[in-house]
Order: sequence, then structure tokens, then C-alpha cells
Amino acid sequence: MEITVGFFGGAGTVTGSNFLLSDGTTKVLIDCGLTQGKEFCDHCNYDDFEYDPKEIDAVVFTHAHLDHIGRGPKLIKDGFNGVAYCTHATEDLMGIMLVDSEGILRREAERKNLFPMYERDHVQGLLAKIDAKNYHEKFSVGDFTFEFFNAGHILGSAITRITHARTDKVYVFTGDLGNSPSPLLPDTEVITDADYLIMESVYGDRLHENIEHREEKLREIITRSMERGGVLMIPAFSMERTQILLYKLSNMMEAGEIPKVPVFLDSPLAIKVTHLYKKYSKELKQSLQGEIAKEGNIFDFSFLEKTESKDASKAIAHTPNPKIIIAGAGMSHGGRIQHHELQNLSDPASTLMIVGYQSAGSMGRVLQDGGKKVRIFNRDVKVKATIETLSGYSAHADRDNLVEFVSHTSKTLTKVFVAMGEPGPAGFLAQRLHDFLNVKAIVPEKGKTYTLD
Ligand SMILES: [Zn+2]
Repeated sequence: MEITVGFFGGAGTVTGSNFLLSDGTTKVLIDCGLTQGKEFCDHCNYDDFEYDPKEIDAVVFTHAHLDHIGRGPKLIKDGFNGVAYCTHATEDLMGIMLVDSEGILRREAERKNLFPMYERDHVQGLLAKIDAKNYHEKFSVGDFTFEFFNAGHILGSAITRITHARTDKVYVFTGDLGNSPSPLLPDTEVITDADYLIMESVYGDRLHENIEHREEKLREIITRSMERGGVLMIPAFSMERTQILLYKLSNMMEAGEIPKVPVFLDSPLAIKVTHLYKKYSKELKQSLQGEIAKEGNIFDFSFLEKTESKDASKAIAHTPNPKIIIAGAGMSHGGRIQHHELQNLSDPASTLMIVGYQSAGSMGRVLQDGGKKVRIFNRDVKVKATIETLSGYSAHADRDNLVEFVSHTSKTLTKVFVAMGEPGPAGFLAQRLHDFLNVKAIVPEKGKTYTLD
């Protein structure tokens, strides 16, 4: 018997996480994510899987980001009939994220005259197969036994620790690792007994800046932008970043540290996700539990208005300035933020605050790089608003966090597979693990299967 792991996505690239663990009898996928390039969805997502989904016994989802779950419904479409495992929060978040992305994929397919990659029925089919587990609740598939550890990356995110009845080895898939300490989530749990580690490396060669000053900087940007008297627009990802912002704004207003101005959460998706953060508030970090017990909902405050309908969204323009608008998409590549950008980017009193990574080619990146003109809904917009960048709130571990994570188990490791990163960062991290921890680390090739012996 041989234990093998195949790298069918998330090798040589950040997105499209998809690994196949097998002992020759039982086959389990870890993640089944979308590859996300310049477009929301790359063409390769339509390709057949490189294995037969009918032969897969189970799929484990590490967390609810689309680059880890987004091709899951296609598994159903292609005949998968096993069980899907994830944490309870991930199950609920998947319900929201997959329904939302199915709509985006359908509209994109229509534009390109393609069949959609999957349909609503396949999303429902996948959700019906989920058997959700708590952190540290063990479960078995064939001779494999699984246990989720808290990854501290987004709500519900998990590191998967796996053992096998006929070996004495421990196999660990990190999924995405958090940037602890997070404002909301518990710290990433430590693993001390891995023989084989399949890890992420998104920021394998970079350090995050300003983690200790991030709150002060947020306060300064808000105060400055309110003094200018215009609109503060915040393009934000609906999961995690939005909830951090709501929590911080609520506390800063309460403490009188920033002006009390109207705040709009203008994203039906983010509103739904925020409800789940409230539902799972017991899973937020220990130091928040007192506040949660006292306030009930730490993401709500009297100056916050959630605009679900299109009409409510349009009506935001009638509220006098200054005001704050949080809306998707996080890189200004679609979503309601574009309507606000169209209205306000040419106003010198307004501000756009960038809070997350902006990929090359996205409108957010153009703005961040000082672009003076952008095109929104086929109209040229002159950029006169102030563009601010707030770093420090990344949800990913940086280079030093990743090395530290491995250091806790470096004595037991036989081999590390450095995946889920671009070739540069992955190669850098593999070299660093070797140099600093004397660990054997390789960057796996996409499509290749390795024996864990
Ligand atoms: Zn993630």
C-alpha cells in the first residue's frame, strides 16, 4: 500500500486548490477551487478533472473562499457521489458564496456564448452532501482519519490533520493560514507532529507591514477623509475584511475616536456573510467574548445602514456627505462599489481606501498606482479623489509566519510540499525552510502525483 498525493490545482499558482489523497483504495480530495486569473473565472475551470469524480469517496473543504470551493458543484455535475466534509461555519458560508458565484459564472458564460460550468442544482447537490464537523471532532473515510484545527484565516477555516490506519504517519494540509493575531479570529493552531505537510505559500517571500500600526492608520485615514467632507469609499471583500471594518468602525465611533457619520454596508452578499459572523460569534477570538456577551452583535451600530435592494443602494447618493460606503468588489472589478466610484471618484473631497491586495490589471490596482483616468460602465472618469492604502489587514500568513508555523513540527517532518503560491514565493519559501529549519521542502508540479513513503 502506498499513500499518494496528487497536485491537480494550487501548484505553481495561488488559486485553484485541488489535491487528491489516496491509499489506492480510498480517494479523498482536499479542496476543489476555482482558478482565478484576470477574469473572474479562467477557461481552464471548464476542463474535465484529471481524475474521475465518480471514483472519489470524499472531498474536504478547508474554507469557503472560492479558490478552494468554487469547482465543487462541477464535481457533482461530473458524477461525484461521495461525502463532503468541512466545518459548520464553512458549510453555511459555502451556501452563500456558491449561490452568488453561480450567478456570476452564468452571466459570464452567457456573455461568452458558453454553457455555464455548473447550475444551481449542482450547487444544491453539493450542499446536500455536506457532513459538517466541529474543530477536533475526528471522522473517518476508509482507513483515513481526519481532524480539523483552526487555521485563523477566515471564519470556519481549517488545517486538516490526517492519519491512516496502516501507517504511523501524520499528513497535514494547511489550507490557507491566517495572519495572527487577527482582529476577530483565534490564532492559527499549532501542529507539532506532521510527517508530511502540504502548505500554502501565497506570501512565501513577503513580509506584511504595519501590523502593529494598522488600527492607528485606519483611524487617521477615516479622520482625514471625513475632514475633506466627501464620501469615503471602501471596496472590500465580503468575507472577513468587511466584518473587521464594521467591528473597528463601531468601536471607534463608540469611543469618539472618529466622527459619527452614516456608514453604508452596500452589499447583499456581505450583509449575509456578516449575519453568519454573528451566528458563529462563539468561534471568534476569546478576547471578544466579553464584548459579544454585552453587545450581542459587535458588527452593528446605530450609524450603520445595510442596503440590500437596488433602490436602497441608489438612495445612498441622497444622504448628505460626509459618509462612508463599504461595498464589493474588493478590487473594484465589479459590484456596487463601481456605481459609487462613478459618482465620486472625480470629486476632490472624496476618498477611496484600498484595504486588500489588488491584482495586476484590476481597476483597484490602476487606482492604487495613481492612475488619473479609469473607465467605468463605458464612461471615462477623471480621478480627483484621494486614494489611500491601508495595509496590515491581510488574512494570510506572511513569510515569517509560515516559517514559524513549520518550525513547530520541523523535528518530525519528512517532507514539505510548498503549494498554493506563485513559483517565486513558493520557491523562496522552500529554500528558506531548508536553510532555516533544515527541512526537506519541494515545490510540487501541477498534475503530478507524489508518494508519501
Ligand atoms: Zn483563503
